[in-house]
Amino acid sequence: MGLMEIKNRIKDEAVRVGRAPESVQLIAVSKVQPDERVEAVLSEGHRVFGENRVQEAAGKWPAFKEKFDGVELHLIGPLQTNKARQAMDLFDVIHTVDRLKLAKAIARLAEEMGHCPRLFIQVNTGEEPQKAGVSPAEADEFIQECRDLGLPIEGLMCIPPADEEPSLHFALLKKIAVRNGLEGLSMGMSGDFETAIAQGATHVRVGSAIFGERDYH
Ligand SMILES: *Cc1c(COP(=O)(O)O)cnc(C)c1O
Repeated sequence: MGLMEIKNRIKDEAVRVGRAPESVQLIAVSKVQPDERVEAVLSEGHRVFGENRVQEAAGKWPAFKEKFDGVELHLIGPLQTNKARQAMDLFDVIHTVDRLKLAKAIARLAEEMGHCPRLFIQVNTGEEPQKAGVSPAEADEFIQECRDLGLPIEGLMCIPPADEEPSLHFALLKKIAVRNGLEGLSMGMSGDFETAIAQGATHVRVGSAIFGERDYH
């Protein structure tokens, strides 16, 4: 498909549902993709990218950042506390704050380092045991705890269960965000980003529809 088609589809869907196209940010998810494909998308002028592993991102993004100005990097995968410092050096936005221990580590490091990435809290809307994220029932309390720590919480993020209608999960995420006064909604991937935009997504995370299928070998 490619970058231009996805950007056009985002714009069309935003307009269709009466939203400003600029209110939806496209995060191009470059995990596992070969460097040539990532560089091609950078050369087309796109600057906002997502990675789900700190180690992998640390291996490839410093070089891309030297070559291309204005890169904005989003961490969309789980973050271990012992990698928080490295993540905070590398990423502009972290979408996966999901437990108090991590929130406290980020707060402590932010004070020490003098800067903090923008943050999203991951909510496990499907309450799947294998997935990260706070449960919907614990979300309000966790958001408050993060705010008490002084963290710049911008919004919420979810990854709906693969076999369920995503719109129910997007609606639930939005409801939790609204009642907590949060504006950011990181939701929607290659298969469902238009649905997510119709339900208020401010950040869609699209990988394979831009870069092609990921080859894990
Ligand atoms: C890989 C990944 C994506 C992108 O998935 P595609 O289906 O390739 O668009 C989005 N969000 C998260 C959290 C991911 O890990």
